Amino acid sequence: MENELTDLQKRVLELKKERNALILAHNYQTMDIQEVADFVGDSLELARKSAEVEGYDLVIFAGVKFMAEMAAVLSKDIPVYIPAPKALCPLAAFVDSEKVLEMKKQHPDTPVIVYVNTTADTKSESDMLCTSGNAPEIVESLGVDKVLFGPDSNLAEYVRRRTGIEIIDIEPRGHCYVHNQFDIAQIELLREEHPDAVVIAHPECPPEVQDAADMVGSTSMMARTVANSPKKKFIIATEMGLVHQMQKRNPEKIVIPAYEGAVCRQMKKNTLEKILYILEDLPEDHLVTVPEHMVAHVRKILEQMNKAPSTVEVLVAKTS
Ligand code: SF4
Repeated sequence: MENELTDLQKRVLELKKERNALILAHNYQTMDIQEVADFVGDSLELARKSAEVEGYDLVIFAGVKFMAEMAAVLSKDIPVYIPAPKALCPLAAFVDSEKVLEMKKQHPDTPVIVYVNTTADTKSESDMLCTSGNAPEIVESLGVDKVLFGPDSNLAEYVRRRTGIEIIDIEPRGHCYVHNQFDIAQIELLREEHPDAVVIAHPECPPEVQDAADMVGSTSMMARTVANSPKKKFIIATEMGLVHQMQKRNPEKIVIPAYEGAVCRQMKKNTLEKILYILEDLPEDHLVTVPEHMVAHVRKILEQMNKAPSTVEVLVAKTS
């Protein structure tokens, strides 16, 4: 670790060891949390990691609730705690199991693919899961001509354009308020100021922003591109937590946020103080559980997703 650790970080690390705890953190967490985490990644990477937690006595998941639910399902008997139980993703809230069932009724025999940014309740009525890193591949892998897809309408459009498959939005209004804020005028202005920069956007951004970017992909694809590309300057259209992480890990490069206001307030509800509180008290109201009747199906589709291919490497190769 490059920085001197704070007293709070040192205390967290000490207790983490004593408790034999594993800390998983999403790329959008603040740097002080990322620095004490055992693993930092995007939803897919964190889901994969959650299935490999054997040997630990507990997991602390610094992310939003649907992510911690995935960890609780995949980690089997190992308890999963979330620092901020009220860290709910507004995108996930656009769709629930009732909405999925209603759409299934209207479109019988059409597979339901939902983005990993959904609650366990929604997943429990869905056929398959995808992430922003593998959505087009997952949809294509079904070999069908139409699918029901949700909850993010911008990601749906990204998949529609890449696959040519009919994508029926489960909820056309579904969007991530953080990524929906990026606009083409910001990108164009930054391009004028930095003509040598590579513009990378997340597929939750509006389609016109995706069109204006040089590359579109998941947060991990973005992080790997900045680390591995020979280019020196990047304009990044995603949440600020990742932008800070990229700059810190690649001090020789210039990482420019496409919009500094792109901050996920739900992700930031997790704090180092709350992580310490969990390690000290193991509070039951921070324990993440999924209703028993949902667990088997949700685990099955999460395991399928974890084994599915990802576009990350392909997209990285395009930048070199
Ligand atoms: S950045 Fe968007 S999709 Fe991610 S947790 Fe926040 S609101 Fe949800």
